[in-house]
Amino acid sequence: MTAHIIDGAAIAKLLRQEIGEKVRSRGVTTPGLAVVLVGENPASEVYVRNKGRAAEEVGMKSWTQRLPAETTQKQLLDHIGKLNADPNVHGILVQLPLPKQIDEQAVIAAIDPAKDVDGFHPVNVGALASGLPGFVPCTPQGCMILIREAVKVLTKREDMDGYNALVIGRSNIVGKPMFQLLLAANCTVTVAHSKTKDLPGKCREADIVVAAIGKPQFVKGDWIKAGAIVIDVGINRIPAPTSTDPNKTRLVGDVDFASASQVAGAITPVPGGVGPMTIACLLGNTLEGPTKPIM
Ligand code: NAD
Repeated sequence: MTAHIIDGAAIAKLLRQEIGEKVRSRGVTTPGLAVVLVGENPASEVYVRNKGRAAEEVGMKSWTQRLPAETTQKQLLDHIGKLNADPNVHGILVQLPLPKQIDEQAVIAAIDPAKDVDGFHPVNVGALASGLPGFVPCTPQGCMILIREAVKVLTKREDMDGYNALVIGRSNIVGKPMFQLLLAANCTVTVAHSKTKDLPGKCREADIVVAAIGKPQFVKGDWIKAGAIVIDVGINRIPAPTSTDPNKTRLVGDVDFASASQVAGAITPVPGGVGPMTIACLLGNTLEGPTKPIM
């Protein structure tokens, strides 16, 4: 069996087009996204550039503010205070990780929950856990869209009632909100983490596996139940030397795609799976505000 490849890049492109049309047709106020980057993390630089560019492509206003690595917590909090008060700014995103001298939780808590397009503020975390409207974190939101798409392709069904879902990873950014969203969609959800026993066995029972671990090609094909939906959140750079370029690298996910795609019913590739959905959902959050119903 060879899995259906869930084309996140194509689905995200459609989403961005829809968002662009809504931005143009609503027309009264142009949504504005402020992205704040502190320090010089090369991966963060790429993410921030892509987010700013995507916002402009759908017709939003976007400001990327680069603050020096030695920025103090007070300076960053003052900066966030100004963005909170600015009526042109509808969404504020502070790119993580932050330099060591800054307390991430204090920064997240300082963002106006009504502008917290990442959905990391405790108010939005609580809203998600309680089934109330709020901002849903972008990566898990994107994963849900891909899972729904895969369920439709594989079963022609619109729901995932009663599916056994396994989330591997329990971060605030991916694992925990992913658990909430799958639970809200009537799945029976297990969350695995670094202390979980018999992860391969837990995987083999899952109809849906979401891998958010940060370890290249960690989940093997023989852990996957035949026909399962596999969503690979991981972004890992590994060496891929060639005869002409010994330093060449490539991106891989947390799932061993070559073996897993022989067993799964549907699987996301890396790159071109979850990554583009994260940005599309960020734009959606900026457009719609904290009103998105639980998906
Ligand atoms: P994290 O480091 O905060 O969390 C990793 C989780 O994996 C932890 O909860 C840990 O318990 C678990 N884990 C570690 N070793 C394990 C093991 N041996 N068995 C089971 N669980 C184990 O990472 P994160 O922020 O959640 O990100 C995870 C991955 O997803 C990273 O590769 C990151 O780059 C990627 N990511 C991608 C996107 C995207 O847009 N595609 C967005 C966010 C994160």
